Amino acid sequence: MKFSQFSRKRVAVVGAGVSGLAAAYKLKSHGFSVTVLEADGRAGGKLRSVSYNGLIWDEGANTMTESEPEVQCLFDDLGLREKQQFPISQSKRYIVRNGLPVLVPTDPIALIKSNILSTKSKVCFYLTIEFQIILEPFLWKKYSTSKVSEDDTDESVGGFFQRHFGKEVVDYLIDPIVAGTSAGDPDSLSMSHSFPELWNIEKRFGSILSGLVQSKLSTKKENSGVRNGTTGKRKPTRGSFSFQNGMQTLTDTLSKELGEDVLKLRSEVLSLSYNAGKSASQNWSLTYSSDRNSKNLIADADAVIMTAPVCNVREMKFMKGGIPFPLNFLPEVAYLPLSVMITTFRKESVKRPLEGFGVLVPSLEQQNGLRTLGTLFSSMMFPNRASNDEYLYTTFIGGSRNRELAKSSTDELKQIVTSDLRQLLGVEGEPTFVNHFYWSKAFPLYGRNYDSVVKAIETMEKSLPGFFYAGNHRDGLSVGKSIASGCKAADLVISYLESSTHQPCAEQ
Ligand code: FAD
Repeated sequence: MKFSQFSRKRVAVVGAGVSGLAAAYKLKSHGFSVTVLEADGRAGGKLRSVSYNGLIWDEGANTMTESEPEVQCLFDDLGLREKQQFPISQSKRYIVRNGLPVLVPTDPIALIKSNILSTKSKVCFYLTIEFQIILEPFLWKKYSTSKVSEDDTDESVGGFFQRHFGKEVVDYLIDPIVAGTSAGDPDSLSMSHSFPELWNIEKRFGSILSGLVQSKLSTKKENSGVRNGTTGKRKPTRGSFSFQNGMQTLTDTLSKELGEDVLKLRSEVLSLSYNAGKSASQNWSLTYSSDRNSKNLIADADAVIMTAPVCNVREMKFMKGGIPFPLNFLPEVAYLPLSVMITTFRKESVKRPLEGFGVLVPSLEQQNGLRTLGTLFSSMMFPNRASNDEYLYTTFIGGSRNRELAKSSTDELKQIVTSDLRQLLGVEGEPTFVNHFYWSKAFPLYGRNYDSVVKAIETMEKSLPGFFYAGNHRDGLSVGKSIASGCKAADLVISYLESSTHQPCAEQ
């Protein structure tokens, strides 16, 4: 715990998803007095793990990566490394072609032998593998407008990849990957928001491949610096991972560190009021509902970090200097619905079990009768997720490909999942266990007009001193990006309160 002059400064964090908890933890560690207000009866947001009858599963995020330095620091601080769980055979990932799973090749020989793409596309495909742009979440890279000219921001993901690699790569590589990582589809997603790094490389070098070669060379240089101990940065762990009891271990650990005094559950923020004083001291008051009291309660704060989804922010009332501050400039965000189905099958009922991470289903494979987006081989990756004689699978249905299907009943979805797994893995009979979780707003769609959302968030921050927005609506969809976003917002609060501690506040 770092001692500082901020111990009496109060910060309110709205939302106890991973971004809000990471922000609160950082602020608490710097000596701030923090209150986290969470509408739900549990912390974790989109991280949601369940242990039941010897089974462990995740209904939200299943794995994460550790590319962001903020994540590495957080894990070290929380002592989480010993709880990290790395999947067995994580490089074995499958994509369906002609109704059957095909192993995604990871070397040129395997690629030539594989029937996943035509020869022309294989060349491009191999290049993409070589430069590591598949399967690891490029989608999860930070949004950055720094090198993107404003007129160019709305090319679709599909349009971009088709221009560079052809339609087959879009249909059999990009489509299943974006469905599996964001529930989106290549035609709706904005390239600049979904793959900002690749988008910037094209803008900077004029060609993806030469840009990738150059950035790969500079990454190698950086990494050799890391190995020689010259940069002081830890080399990030490669690949995806979870934790012994699922992803919620991360948010449970953060919640425990924050303690009950800080984390207020069942506390839905209804309104926020900013009143400029002579100094940036307790200028904010937040009204929130509380289960325990029939009356609404008020929390005072010097700064606010908002991590609630934009759809929830639009429902809050904002006041500035005693008069309403309407949020009519904050656009509506489109969301993608998703059902997550957990099934278990006795091992002897699965005739063609596959070892590895999981299988993704391209949209075109719907013509071969497949209706799911993809399935994670959860207990193949993490054997402690089921008993020795059964397999546990996590299947995703819906997204922008099939919004209505996501809303189907558990029984209908059980039939759909069983039918797809019969075709893909040879399961026989019915699952021995089924669990269904429906997310009506699983992911914000980083659509081709998403710029207007980011700009509106920036407008809020400029108009409301001491207000900062973080989370997956701003800085990338992944768990790692959400953590980094929360930590960056905490840094901004620290500098804001530091500057307002030393200088009288300008008239607002
Ligand atoms: P959230 O987790 O949405 O947290 C926001 C919080 O704000 C919520 O707890 C909400 O209750 C609260 N809130 C809302 N309104 C109010 C209010 N008025 N007052 C107080 N609190 C409020 N990412 C990966 O990296 N890997 C994966 O494998 C992966 N898989 C996923 C699978 C699914 C099914 C889903 C849904 C997401 C997945 N993601 C994955 C994405 C990732 O989990 C999320 O983007 C990330 O966890 C978002 O964190 P957050 O804190 O920004 O938002």
